[in-house]
Amino acid sequence: MTLPLMDIHIHNKYSLDAKGSTEEVLKEASLKNLDFIAITNHVPPDPTWINKLRREVEGLRRRYELEVLVGAEIGIKDEKGGLFVDETYLKQLDFVLAADHILPGVPYRNSDGIYFSDPAVEDYTKEEIVEKWFNSVVGAIESRRVDAVAHLGWVLVQERIVAKPEEISLEYKEEIAEKAAENSVFIEVNASAQLPDEDFLRQCLRKGAKFVLGSDAHEPALVGELDWAIKILEKIGASKEDVATLEDVLKRVARRKSSI
Ligand SMILES: [Zn+2]
Ligand SMILES: [Zn+2]
Repeated sequence: MTLPLMDIHIHNKYSLDAKGSTEEVLKEASLKNLDFIAITNHVPPDPTWINKLRREVEGLRRRYELEVLVGAEIGIKDEKGGLFVDETYLKQLDFVLAADHILPGVPYRNSDGIYFSDPAVEDYTKEEIVEKWFNSVVGAIESRRVDAVAHLGWVLVQERIVAKPEEISLEYKEEIAEKAAENSVFIEVNASAQLPDEDFLRQCLRKGAKFVLGSDAHEPALVGELDWAIKILEKIGASKEDVATLEDVLKRVARRKSSI
């Protein structure tokens, strides 16, 4: 299967937990023959980095013959699918990757507004937490503010393991897949977290949700490392048509920007 070669989940020096100049990222992507990439840093509250990164990309784009989207990975903050930044912020982005980084509706004992630790998971049953997570993901998909959802199920296995991917019910997976297809929101196949799990991806395929591929690289050498994503898509029988092209992505982004 020849897939559109993309990496739509890349961090660089603008994320506190990542390294790599913008040129190093583009160089690596070009070495790995990617057709297009999105640089999706975690979002600091001050959006000035967006224009800095955009200027760097503009200066380099021709040298590397590569389409580069200036995006961000943004946490889903509540059970309704609200995001951690406002609409003015979102409007400046070429690609919005929504991510399950906190357990929505569960109080955290430590938080500085950006990083959260020690959630009070013992106050809830597993079913309650998974239901809150499910609502938050569906809410984000239906919000018209996101282009793709990242590494579905990630937060449920962080810090305190609430539910392993195989413990999320098939009904939830099916409904998320259906909403993603209906709203033309892409499902990220995340090669480093190896998520969503195979059953989840099969539901997405069945419901007609389109996939995008992400390495979640936090250093330049890992840009375009997509082996797991490509293998699992082959395993579930996905074809080229099930994976978003650059044109699909640009269409989706234009639609989001016009609906904000
Ligand atoms: Zn993430
Ligand atoms: Zn990430």
